[in-house]
Amino acid sequence: MAVVPRVDDHLFYRDLRRPLREIVRGEGVYLYDTEGRRYLDGCAGSLAANIGHGNRRVAEVLRRQAERVAFTHLSRFTNGPAIELADWIAERAPGDLSRVYFVSGGSEATETALKLARQYFVDRDGPETPRWKVIARRSSYHGNTLGALSMTGHRARRSPYEPLLNAFPHAAPAYCYRCPFGLEPSSCRLRCATDVEETLLREGPETVAAVIAEPVVGAAAGALVPPDGYWQRLREICDRYGVLLIADEVMTGFGRTGRLFAVEHWNVVPDLLVLAKGMSAGYTPIGAVVAREPVWATLRDRSGRFVHGHTYGANPLSCAASLEVQRILEEEGLVERAEAMGRVLLGLLRERLGSHPLVGDVRGLGLMVGVELVADRVTREPFPSSWGVASRAGLAAERRGLVVYPGSGAHEGRGDHVLIGPPFIIDATQVEELADLLEESLNDLAGELAG
Ligand code: PLP
Repeated sequence: MAVVPRVDDHLFYRDLRRPLREIVRGEGVYLYDTEGRRYLDGCAGSLAANIGHGNRRVAEVLRRQAERVAFTHLSRFTNGPAIELADWIAERAPGDLSRVYFVSGGSEATETALKLARQYFVDRDGPETPRWKVIARRSSYHGNTLGALSMTGHRARRSPYEPLLNAFPHAAPAYCYRCPFGLEPSSCRLRCATDVEETLLREGPETVAAVIAEPVVGAAAGALVPPDGYWQRLREICDRYGVLLIADEVMTGFGRTGRLFAVEHWNVVPDLLVLAKGMSAGYTPIGAVVAREPVWATLRDRSGRFVHGHTYGANPLSCAASLEVQRILEEEGLVERAEAMGRVLLGLLRERLGSHPLVGDVRGLGLMVGVELVADRVTREPFPSSWGVASRAGLAAERRGLVVYPGSGAHEGRGDHVLIGPPFIIDATQVEELADLLEESLNDLAGELAG
């Protein structure tokens, strides 16, 4: 059914020059705009809408919770959905990750992890502790607020705000297609993990509070999967120097990579686990930091409080929606499905795009797949950033009725990429449809760039 598009004079977008289409309905893996055009949501919004659009169970839970109580403030009261959701997560999180601090999104969550790491050392060692730095990596994304952006390595996102940011050091990424050390995964002996240790030593381990990393890098570089052993090495390094390990699973958490939490691929227990996106599958804003028991106990025993908090932390509506999403994920076996469909998707995209003139690399884990676009497949030369190839790829896909998550890279010597990460409910026919649409879109783009 076509709906008359509204005139949009006052909404402030990210892209200030291009008016956006208005979506009026979502159902399963599809979105529909005011003109009745259908889009296959090939990136679940921003790899968030993991159980698909228009889920009735979640809508019903939201209605019931809104009628019961929509808002309480955590400084005075707790609430049922928050208690149950914290229990649910603690029972499933690896190791003794068992204390759940709720916020409203990914940046708030990484920011919270940063402050929690700092307060842990203040409480443990006293206010004079020199430990405040967080070691992150280049080509990473940890959010847009100032603390989160200080950890973020992605240069273009940081650059206008550099004077406002903390001077956190950035080590090399685990980026096998463009190994920063020119090595091969079979013989590199995890040189990129050694770089994290060298960065730590250069900074002085006694000044470092934490190391933060995404288990699989998402928006910043298009599904960078580290070599096996990398995360175990990060754990060893952090243990050796008494530094907290933070896994930023805002994008990978809750099943995206085919395990409930991506660190489970490598049997690593971080000290802080950062969550958002798939936590409510986009139905409500929510995020969390899950702390290991000793971190939480240090704050409890020393200062007795975490000097931090937000109005919407542990919001009953958001927690109720998130809990229902998690029940659906488990009852419908959607994490296993993400793994199975992810294998099909990666295989198909490698088959279809493996020798495409614009494609340098197709990589991924579970339903998180990155396609890196290059000007020259042999030299791996990126397109000039002024060509805007990433956003043109996004537009080419949109014209074909496919939504992808594009990211630029040339500003830091990488190729542009598109990130693919559909809802986990996608079936094999829809995976084929996605692969067809993406191939056609890249053919359109190749024609456009040649013409
Ligand atoms: N961390 C990671 C790994 C992310 O992918 C994102 C968002 O894409 C964030 C943090 C920031 O989350 P939000 O956009 O909810 O603030």
